[in-house]
Amino acid sequence: MKNLKEDYFNPFFSHIYVEKSVRNHARTQNILAKFPSAQIIEIGHYKDVFCRSRQNIRLQHCAQKLILAARQGTLLYEGAPVCQRFGNEHFYYVSCAMNCIFDCAYCYLKGMYPSANIVVFVNLEDIFAEVERVLENHPLYLCVSYDTDLLALEPLIGFVQEWCAFAAKHAQLTIEIRTKCANKAFVQSIVPMPNVIYAYTISPQAVIDAFEHHTASLSDRLFCAAALMRAGCPVRLCFDPMIYLPGWKTHYSEMMNQVYRSIAVDQLLDVSIGTFRISQDYLKNMRKQAKDSAVIWFPFQKEDGYCHYPAPLMEEMESFLTAQIAEKIDREKIFRWNV
Ligand code: SF4
Repeated sequence: MKNLKEDYFNPFFSHIYVEKSVRNHARTQNILAKFPSAQIIEIGHYKDVFCRSRQNIRLQHCAQKLILAARQGTLLYEGAPVCQRFGNEHFYYVSCAMNCIFDCAYCYLKGMYPSANIVVFVNLEDIFAEVERVLENHPLYLCVSYDTDLLALEPLIGFVQEWCAFAAKHAQLTIEIRTKCANKAFVQSIVPMPNVIYAYTISPQAVIDAFEHHTASLSDRLFCAAALMRAGCPVRLCFDPMIYLPGWKTHYSEMMNQVYRSIAVDQLLDVSIGTFRISQDYLKNMRKQAKDSAVIWFPFQKEDGYCHYPAPLMEEMESFLTAQIAEKIDREKIFRWNV
């Protein structure tokens, strides 16, 4: 089994499936060179492996396989209503990789995909071309680390660097790179750009320990966020999703004290606050696989196809954190997803 906590920069893949059409692609070659002992298996289409029936996602997380493929069809997606758009009119996301080396118990990917295997789409050039086509009509706010944690995969695939190089040539493009990792090597080599936002998901250490398996500790995430701010990068903290657990006020208060000790909060680009919410269909799939998970078996309230904490609890949690942060940062820099 991989020990990602200690060594997530070098996860081991025993098997790598490669679509024939990208077997000779330069990015495929670069990625395969990092796994000289992996067994390479050529396939026709990534779905032949990714969508096999009766896959056990929980077990697969212990032995994830890597799939290299070409993204076809839709390349850019409009942001979902449950996602924070930070006041941006043209909010899109790309999915240049699917699934994550981390294993958060509440991750919607477990309900969205039929497999825990990681798919990397190596034809970034096609996605870049699509972005350029859209940029001809209007500016674009683009989340590039959706459906994965791209920065955690960086030592393997280098896509964040490629996105940064692309953003450097397109002033009308703003990208957000959201992460729960502490890639200190990357952070220390960063070239700051005004249109590349680094967004750290921040949770109490008790939530990380209980539910965000293999992700970086709170102190390591804050260390990286602070280093990026010192380097001049726009940094966002996402207190989203807030997760309910007994004694949540104490845990979130302690977390905020740690944030204040580590970060010049008033110099953040902004912060987001939102309690856990998820599509009803994804939650149904997740519950089939994890019958003992407290975080996904909470008695949620259903509304318009989504599940969230009961309104009074949701309001109490979000107001509690908003009031604390509002003492340190301008109100207009605080984004709540449901108001
Ligand atoms: S870090 Fe994000 S994408 Fe990865 S498992 Fe956790 S919630 Fe899912």
